[in-house]
Amino acid sequence: MKSTIIEKAKKIIKNRRYKAENQALSNKTLAYNDDKFKSLYQEYVNKMIENAKVNKFDDEVEKLKTALNKRLRSLDIGSIEPQYSCATCKDLGLTSDGKYCHCLIDEINKLLVQESGFIELEDFKDANLNLFSDESIMKKLYEKMQKWCNSKFEKTLICIAGQTGVGKTHLIRCMANELIKRHKLVLLTTSFAMHQDFVKSYACRDAIEKQNLITKYIDAEILFIDDLGTELRNKDVTINYLYQILNERKINRRPTIITTNLKMDEILSYYDERISSRIADKDNSICIYIEGEDLRLKNK
Ligand SMILES: [Zn+2]
Repeated sequence: MKSTIIEKAKKIIKNRRYKAENQALSNKTLAYNDDKFKSLYQEYVNKMIENAKVNKFDDEVEKLKTALNKRLRSLDIGSIEPQYSCATCKDLGLTSDGKYCHCLIDEINKLLVQESGFIELEDFKDANLNLFSDESIMKKLYEKMQKWCNSKFEKTLICIAGQTGVGKTHLIRCMANELIKRHKLVLLTTSFAMHQDFVKSYACRDAIEKQNLITKYIDAEILFIDDLGTELRNKDVTINYLYQILNERKINRRPTIITTNLKMDEILSYYDERISSRIADKDNSICIYIEGEDLRLKNK
């Protein structure tokens, strides 16, 4: 994933912390103008120190805290404790074991979605399935995919095929949203955008940059590739890079969701046997073909 996105997300969380702490500090400064608050606060701090010395905890501290908060309310001043947005990490972005906190993952996802061009994600519960010619089949498909999104991903590749306009993108918008709600890091891309990175990488002379253009697709926790087969294909470049990505993701058991207008035999002729066997691998893939008329036409 692009390090600039992670840095940006970290900055957002850091700003939240800064804001919460600054607000608490300014509340405290304001409250200190009040003599009653000041003396209560002094008493509270003394009591805390006294207790810490003898390693005891009594009600007295809590009582003083309550009195302090009451005084703050009567002065119409907010809390003197920082009110962090995230209770898990106190707006640090990292959990106590050093992992990304869910609040940081949510921010990274927001930035990734913005960058992907998938402006609107949709919710499974709001999916309007009566637009489809066969509503009951689509309902089953949506349920199956929602279940997969909430599973442990025993099968790591989902291929949703069907002609243009049968609702593939609609379905993956729901899936991406569902996964983001589980705080998964989701990279949404189109085959077209990915192919541009392949070409850039192929032509790049800087070894690190060359690899970075590809590793973001290999390392993404969850990767969505929309519209496979519509890219401006350059056989050697496309197939080699695409195979590398699909293969490494399979080995590392990282979920990949593909949509395509191509049928399986067309995938074989459009790419090659290595790609089609990765996609059609029965032990690892769920392949779905959506029959049907063009939803966009039906919507008109
Ligand atoms: Zn957090």
